[in-house]
Amino acid sequence: MTDLTGRNAVVTGAASGIGAAIATQLAEAGAAVALVSRRQDRLDDLAGKLGPRTYGVALDVTSQASVDAGVEQIHARLGTVDLVVNAAGVMLAAPIEAGRLDDWTRMIDTNLTGVLRLVQAFTPDLIEAAGEGRTADLVNISSIGAHVVFPGYAVYGATKAALTQLSTSLPADLAPYDVRVTNIEPGLTDTELATHLDETGQELIASMNEQIGPLAASDIADLVTFAVSRRREFNLRQIFALPTRQA
Ligand code: NDP
Repeated sequence: MTDLTGRNAVVTGAASGIGAAIATQLAEAGAAVALVSRRQDRLDDLAGKLGPRTYGVALDVTSQASVDAGVEQIHARLGTVDLVVNAAGVMLAAPIEAGRLDDWTRMIDTNLTGVLRLVQAFTPDLIEAAGEGRTADLVNISSIGAHVVFPGYAVYGATKAALTQLSTSLPADLAPYDVRVTNIEPGLTDTELATHLDETGQELIASMNEQIGPLAASDIADLVTFAVSRRREFNLRQIFALPTRQA
């Protein structure tokens, strides 16, 4: 059984799907976990199930003021954070010819700038923790969409390609401090992600689910738990995680 007792974790996107599954596994392995997303009720429900060392902290990663207030609460509860998982994300169908700058901006703000806000907030913690000889991890949930082309999803793919490139580049800055960076690129996974799509988008995902068979959110959580529980000299940097039938 993996033992993460003593680790202080922050998981964004913890209200549902992959983030909720990751938060659950980290808490079950003994970590103290701040569950982060916008819906306080969902976070409180999950924290209630996971026990007294988990806390729901509602914040919106697209708002600096909201992140600042949430980070203050997290520090008050957890002290120095040594494990940050960026799973918050949004996927909107935004065909280029429709020119929906609002949807494009929302995806960039959530999937890329949102991650950077968390990176900015917690890099000093990760460096401090690693400097004390503790294991320190930054885990980003990117997507196979960073590499694969889907009509209508160019901007989503661009945000994830940028996130993958960010994750690939960060060790140049953080590895000298012994802070690990892990980028995970899931394929089709059964979560609430598609619920933000219109009817056509939801039908497309439903037919992909039928043909391919999606991963479970817990499959991705297994990878995170595995990666962050390696000895601190061993960094799994890049993980593709696809259903076997996904091309
Ligand atoms: P979900 O929609 O279930 O989870 C997304 C989470 O992000 C929710 O908990 C949501 O909570 C949170 N969130 C969204 N916007 C914000 C915001 N502005 N501030 C804070 N939290 C926010 O989908 P998944 O679990 O699938 O998504 C998790 C990650 O996995 C995403 O980055 C997604 O791109 C990636 N991914 C998913 C795949 C899939 O097939 N499902 C495949 C590849 C990658 P709330 O609404 O309460 O804020």
